[in-house]
Amino acid sequence: MDAHRDRFRDPRGRLTDFAGFDVLVVCPRCGGCAVSRPLPGDAPALVRPRRLTCPGCGRTASWGAGGDGPHRGGVVVGGDVDPHFRLPLWLRDSCCGGHVLWAWNAEHLDVLEDYVAARRRERGTVAAGGRTSMLEKLPTWMKTAKNRDELGRTLRRLRATLP
Ligand SMILES: [Zn+2]
Repeated sequence: MDAHRDRFRDPRGRLTDFAGFDVLVVCPRCGGCAVSRPLPGDAPALVRPRRLTCPGCGRTASWGAGGDGPHRGGVVVGGDVDPHFRLPLWLRDSCCGGHVLWAWNAEHLDVLEDYVAARRRERGTVAAGGRTSMLEKLPTWMKTAKNRDELGRTLRRLRATLP
């Protein structure tokens, strides 16, 4: 990304790529910022077992293979809850007239910020039969130029809440 943020090239990542990082959620016990982290392994990060920890109150939970209870089961991607524990995302705020802007983590926020700030957006290199990127799947209200300022403000507000 250029310093002047003139041009942005879609890195063509998918939302699920961000599962490889800590996903920040609202702690169900104390309301602070808890972290859902994938355990080491060879499988894609989205489906690897995960551990939830809250540095504020010490709450922990497990998801995936070897776990049991309500957290064993499917992954649901999309919306303002995390795909594993289905807890509200920490990075989440209302924006642009009733919409909710959300991100899984700082890495996700980085890409959204660069995208929103750019005046020229390019698709990046698309392989034959290539997948739709996270950015291409964004709703129209996040792609509209007239919303750029409000989106930028909301993203900065979210960044300020990062632990
Ligand atoms: Zn907590």
